[in-house]
Amino acid sequence: MALLKSTLCLLVVLVVCDFSWAEEEEEELSVSELLWKANKDVVHTEDEPLVIDDIAYDHENQRNADPCTSRGCMWSKSSDGKVYVPYVIASHFSSRERTIIERGLFSFHDVSCIRFIKRSTHRDYVNIQSNNGCYSYVGRRGYSQTLSLDRQGCLYHNTVQHELLHALGFNHEQCRSDRDQYIKILWHNIQSGWEYAFDKINTLNQNTPYDYNSVMQYHKYAFSGNNQPTMMPIPDANVSFGKGTQMSKNDIDRLNRLYKC
Ligand SMILES: [Zn+2]
Repeated sequence: MALLKSTLCLLVVLVVCDFSWAEEEEEELSVSELLWKANKDVVHTEDEPLVIDDIAYDHENQRNADPCTSRGCMWSKSSDGKVYVPYVIASHFSSRERTIIERGLFSFHDVSCIRFIKRSTHRDYVNIQSNNGCYSYVGRRGYSQTLSLDRQGCLYHNTVQHELLHALGFNHEQCRSDRDQYIKILWHNIQSGWEYAFDKINTLNQNTPYDYNSVMQYHKYAFSGNNQPTMMPIPDANVSFGKGTQMSKNDIDRLNRLYKC
């Protein structure tokens, strides 16, 4: 019996160790690899918004416009200079999951004037739920806006930061209006039907340089149909890119400039 018990204990320890080891390994994947893994086989239900890649829309015709430049997307600034963004975290998250989400929310507080606050009676807020896959609207939509962090695959510090940057008004780095000077899109390697993930959009770049290590930059093989790269940095094809594991200095600068922090 004692032997059985100690074997069981050992097994428990092994399982626990193995679990944390696996999470550390995952954490080393770039944000775009994590998003790809989490979203690739997802089927959205009727009660979810229209989701393309990891961006939510109310209508198909909004797809090619950046809401920040076409209609305004920003969260308003308070008289104390802070930008308060109300949020709700759904009760279906465990306390451990909630901690990961809050760590992501609060990581903005040290580096910007953004302050995520628990929603009380605020009209507009970010409604954080575990739906199918990881996704967010770009910018403030008005009223409740779903930001999905699927418990299966989206609960990492960098994926939380990535989706929150969408909600604050930012798009993917490779969609930037000036991207053709920094990356060449290898259209022939993109999986058929996914070309729109590389559509160029009139984005708010805030005079920040194109950043290969932005947490919003996809990796070299994103949406590849043939295991060949879909993006090549220019002029130096050997520059490493798409490996961002957390917000870069440029991500933070861009945020502070947009909101005049
Ligand atoms: Zn995204």
